[in-house]
Amino acid sequence: MYFKRLEMHGFKSFAEPVVIEFHEGVTCIVGPNGSGKSNISDAIRWVLGEQSPKALRGGKMEEVIFAGTADRKSRGMAEVTLVIDNSTGILDIDYNEVAITRRMYRSGESEYLINNNQCRLRDIRELIMDTGIGVDGYSLIGQGKISDIVSNKPESRREIFEEAAGVVMYKSKKAEAERKLGSTSNNLERVSDIIAEIE
Ligand code: ATP
Repeated sequence: MYFKRLEMHGFKSFAEPVVIEFHEGVTCIVGPNGSGKSNISDAIRWVLGEQSPKALRGGKMEEVIFAGTADRKSRGMAEVTLVIDNSTGILDIDYNEVAITRRMYRSGESEYLINNNQCRLRDIRELIMDTGIGVDGYSLIGQGKISDIVSNKPESRREIFEEAAGVVMYKSKKAEAERKLGSTSNNLERVSDIIAEIE
């Protein structure tokens, strides 16, 4: 599995459609200061579901939409698509190539798509869970992240190993099952109270 292609339109400094092709192995992005190198990694983070504007170096999520320059009008929408090679089948979906898309409009409305089919953010999270490519995974290491990891509390460091070991999906399913069990037992208690009252 590797990132094959990144398509951006109206995202941060990328007002016009831009396609970046990646290949297996190492890709280096070089360019002058302020040319948009970090905006590329922000785009990857964003399309994978990042919800924190701060993690994208902004104050509000709307700031990911091209804000306009002296000679270019601002855009009403930001769109990013990340195409992932899935020939090894690591993503649990029956496609050799998986395109994850996120759109955001100035109205604040957001859309997520997997291979052009609308989906929920949760579907994207579940698809990439335990693969290491999620925003909390270990494949996106921003500046300062290494020192964070080294100085992290042991529990936080453990989360990275758990993602790599592929147990996060099971932990999340366990938490969901426990939540449902909790609400079912509350319902049962209420029903027993009502029965007791009637009797
Ligand atoms: P450095 O090497 O200094 O870290 P960089 O190549 O990583 O720089 P970025 O931080 O990716 O550069 O890009 C910064 C540029 O992106 C700035 O010129 C900023 O004005 C522009 N930019 C960020 N958000 C937007 C936006 N919403 N609309 C238009 N331009 C934006």
